[in-house]
Amino acid sequence: MTKKIDGKALAQKIQGQLAEKVVQMKADYGIVPGLVVILVGDNPASQVYVRNKERSALAAGFKSKTVRLSDSISEEELLTVIEQYNNEPDIHGILLQLPLPAHINDKRILMAIDPKKDVDGFHPMNTGHLWNGRPQMVPCTPAGIMEMLREYHVDLEGKQAVIIGRSNIVGKPMAQLLLDKNATVTLTHSRTRNLPEVAKQADILIVAIGRGHFVTKDFVKEGAVVIDVGMNRDVNGKLIGDVDFADVAPIASLITPVPGGVGPMTITMLLEQTYQAALRSVTKHDY
Ligand code: NAP
Repeated sequence: MTKKIDGKALAQKIQGQLAEKVVQMKADYGIVPGLVVILVGDNPASQVYVRNKERSALAAGFKSKTVRLSDSISEEELLTVIEQYNNEPDIHGILLQLPLPAHINDKRILMAIDPKKDVDGFHPMNTGHLWNGRPQMVPCTPAGIMEMLREYHVDLEGKQAVIIGRSNIVGKPMAQLLLDKNATVTLTHSRTRNLPEVAKQADILIVAIGRGHFVTKDFVKEGAVVIDVGMNRDVNGKLIGDVDFADVAPIASLITPVPGGVGPMTITMLLEQTYQAALRSVTKHDY
């Protein structure tokens, strides 16, 4: 029988535990985790994400700061802002909300973030650690998916995992994390031939493409675990996933809904990694 993976409930549970750990951290070391979110311009979707991140961070007892910058800011000025937070001791995590305005070279800016504070895991040094099988700061969405699979006791050892979508933010880091757990991983994309047949091999199918209800039951093996990363708006403005939930749920063993699946876990992992960065700043444990 299909079971829904309740990302919202798991996120609440982990964020509750984090809030307790933050109280303990304050008692033990006299610090609380500090997160700064930097938002350039007024992209409406980014505004919503940033507000949600700030609300969750404050609820867990973090110091949270949002820096809102004009989209006319120069690359040099933005680098100065990043440098300021790299050097601020009570900030342990720096999140630069993407996308950046077109005149700014996002690669140069992301490279400027101190890898120890790179809670989104996009700095090439963190990407390198991940690919070397020694993950440090990991992109939050795949990290959240791994947490859900662990919570729901999904055995990955030797299993066929198929990922649809090869972005740097989701698909590629997801592949490495699954590989680390000894899954056999296939990473597919827009040029993959016979995609439904390839996807149908999957014991675990992860979909991150950004096309509403693209994946139907024709892509899914009976009993597969299906993780839907997509966040799309239908013609009525309703939030929908990349997976046609109603079509796929009857044959999946586990499936994430949209909303209430992957999304809440992404924010939770952002908080978790900021907490870990704060802990490392006092215990001086290896980064
Ligand atoms: P992205 O950077 O646009 O990458 C999309 C990927 O999907 C690309 O690799 C692309 O292939 C592939 N693709 C597109 N159309 C395809 C098709 N018809 N068949 C097979 N592959 C196809 O997207 P992203 O940043 O990874 O995000 C994907 C979705 O996840 C979006 O809806 C986004 O909003 C959502 N998202 C959600 C969260 C969350 O927290 N819930 C976090 C991040 C992203 P090519 O490489 O060949 O172009």
